[in-house]
Amino acid sequence: MKYIGAHVSASGGVENAPLNAAAIGARAFALFTKSQRQWKSSPLTQSNIKLFRENCNRLGFLPFQILPHDSYLINLGHPDQDGLDKSREAFLDEMQRCEQLGLDRLNFHPGSSLGKISDEECLLRIAESVNLTLDKTKGVIAVIENTAGQGSNLGFKFEHLRFIIDHVEDKSRVGVCIDTCHSFAAGYDLSSEAAFGTTFHHFGEVVGFEYLKGMHVNDSKKGLGSRVDRHDSLGKGTLGIEVFKWLMHDPRFDDMPLILETPDETIWSQEISQLYSF
Ligand SMILES: [Zn+2]
Ligand SMILES: [Zn+2]
Repeated sequence: MKYIGAHVSASGGVENAPLNAAAIGARAFALFTKSQRQWKSSPLTQSNIKLFRENCNRLGFLPFQILPHDSYLINLGHPDQDGLDKSREAFLDEMQRCEQLGLDRLNFHPGSSLGKISDEECLLRIAESVNLTLDKTKGVIAVIENTAGQGSNLGFKFEHLRFIIDHVEDKSRVGVCIDTCHSFAAGYDLSSEAAFGTTFHHFGEVVGFEYLKGMHVNDSKKGLGSRVDRHDSLGKGTLGIEVFKWLMHDPRFDDMPLILETPDETIWSQEISQLYSF
């Protein structure tokens, strides 16, 4: 079964996210559980938590259909101790919010070396950050998102994801989310059926589908290997529409949140029905 949705607004309270998802015909959704561009946010209230759970129950959203996304400020591989401590503290808060909401996974961007440390040192810091956070929380899987590899961001190679997983102690609580736009921008071709097959075969060999906990379903404004992260609406970018048909017909992407992060939210409901029509 395919569960398609979008990264919906949680403005006015997290409890609004399932309402916004249902309104566009989504069977999955992503959300920020706090403001994504600020370090500090007020804690979730008992009312937020109760209403979020009630709305999810009523509208038929189970935890495996929901993929919260962490703040863009967090860098779990930060080269400086201050930045690393601040990021780890914020990531723990994000994981605890997921625990409070009864969610089972949190999607995060691995991190950036900022050109100050080696890629390997940065990846080790990221794994250590995950280990420290998993020790202090229960039941939430840390889901590493692959990146476009813009600037000094790591996670653009499947080998980076594998390296982090290898250094996480509790393998049952680490997973990955593959963003189609980021993959293409990072140099993994998905624009022909053969290339789609090769890329996901390679993913299976290097990372393994048992770690796949969600997908971000986006077209790309920039080309293959551009290392530039610019999402486009489905079929309007350089990836084309076919890739999304192959994805919809592939059972390896069943039973996980498939999340649109496409730029025109006014057409999300059309994009969702288009995907289901495949
Ligand atoms: Zn992301
Ligand atoms: Zn994404």
